[in-house]
Amino acid sequence: MKNFFQSISGIKSILKNLDIEKLNKLSQKVDLNEMMGVVSSMSDEDLAKMMKMMKSGGKKKAIPPINGDFYELGKTLPEKEREIQLKVREFMEKEIRPIANEYWNKAEFPMHIIPKMAELNIAGLTYKGYGCPGHSALLEGFLAMEMARVDTSISTFFGVQTGLAMGSIYYCGSEEQKQEWLPKMQKMEVIGAFGLTEPEVGSAVAGGLTTTCKREGDEWVINGQKKWIGNATFSDITIIWARDLDDQKVKGFIVRKDNPGIHPEKMENKMALRTVQNALITLKDCRVPESDRLQEANSFKDTSVVLKMTRAGVAWQAVGCARGAYEAALKYTNDRFQFGRPIASFQLVQDLLVTMLGDLTAMQTMVTRLSIMQDNDELLDEHASLAKVFCTLRMRDIVDQARELFGGNGILLEYDIARFVADAEAIYSYEGTKEINSLIVGRAITGHSAFV
Ligand SMILES: Cc1cc2nc3c(=O)[nH]c(=O)nc-3n(C[C@H](O)[C@H](O)[C@H](O)COP(=O)(O)OP(=O)(O)OC[C@H]3O[C@@H](n4cnc5c(N)ncnc54)[C@H](O)[C@@H]3O)c2cc1C
Repeated sequence: MKNFFQSISGIKSILKNLDIEKLNKLSQKVDLNEMMGVVSSMSDEDLAKMMKMMKSGGKKKAIPPINGDFYELGKTLPEKEREIQLKVREFMEKEIRPIANEYWNKAEFPMHIIPKMAELNIAGLTYKGYGCPGHSALLEGFLAMEMARVDTSISTFFGVQTGLAMGSIYYCGSEEQKQEWLPKMQKMEVIGAFGLTEPEVGSAVAGGLTTTCKREGDEWVINGQKKWIGNATFSDITIIWARDLDDQKVKGFIVRKDNPGIHPEKMENKMALRTVQNALITLKDCRVPESDRLQEANSFKDTSVVLKMTRAGVAWQAVGCARGAYEAALKYTNDRFQFGRPIASFQLVQDLLVTMLGDLTAMQTMVTRLSIMQDNDELLDEHASLAKVFCTLRMRDIVDQARELFGGNGILLEYDIARFVADAEAIYSYEGTKEINSLIVGRAITGHSAFV
């Protein structure tokens, strides 16, 4: 009898402490009897663990800021240049991120962004004079990275304008040619393209260029085809590289869009960098005045000066593409819940994120040093080639790992990651493939040329 009254008073005290309203709510979600059965059969240790997990699940955990520049390399820029880096980041986030997938999907270029980009005053960033700001190669690298971090197509468009097209005129043009074109290109009033690759000659372009030029009086006549030429469907001028039939040397020409001998045709059905407008150009008896021949381009060696600089830029683009993918994946892993927890809390997921961050940090450190060498005038072809090989290889791994973390959503354009995966393929191949850049480094370190 005593035990009976003890039990009754125990139940009374339990009931007194129970919040009936909460109990009622809970009973609408779960079978209370079943739940009590499961909970009461748990060990003390498991119960304690469950309570801890439930308590932490109640309040939202503060997530650390997402930052793919783990060693804060951006902070090594002088204050003024750091401000420009952050201004470009803001531009990319505000103006480009919201439209990136739409234009990629349509395979169209957002022409309306050109005047807005011009306002950033970053074209011809490192050149001195001709309205160019004369900043460091290091800043130029960071800007290529910032652009590719959001949209690799936009960084490619910009790289063609500022590096390949303006660079050809800056390094290989006469004083008059620089005066005529560079200030307008800096303001992005004139858009340029760079035509070197041909349908039948890519990697072997140095010795195998088949587009020809022949001098006739004060004019040159150019014949041949160029493939993959970025921006060339709408460019005002295209730099065309051709072999002189008389001395067999490679020469460069500024070909204007209204020249009746140049016919650019948009290349369709690309699976990467779809926003970039690549053209197949046919040059048929294209007549160019001697005054539009790049006066300081006397052989392929002069073209290589431009390519060395732009190759360094492509290594930075690879860092940007990888960083964009890593940051998107890190965010996603905190947003996406499986088994009642954010997938970021799983050990295997963290392992993958850390592997990506390690590679990304190595890439960023490498290109930072590369640009410092460029600023010190110490950059050699093999330095740029090694960075291009290493960074594009690591980028390919990082975008794949990032895509893996998105599961099925990784193949949907709206999550951005599919675009990074696809675009990485183009960067991997252009400005010299992995094999060609490896051969450049291999020749430098062994003293033997393995090019056939
Ligand atoms: C999206 C995009 C944009 C581009 N933009 C431009 C542009 O604006 N202007 C321009 O002039 N060009 C541009 N290109 C061209 C680009 O530079 C070439 O695609 C690149 O140089 C490779 O040439 P290819 O495609 O003809 O490949 P190929 O030269 O045919 O090579 C095919 C494969 O063979 C391998 N290979 C070739 N030779 C050797 C060798 N000796 N040893 C070992 N392997 C070898 C290559 O590494 C590669 O794996 C662009 C390309 C792309 C994809």
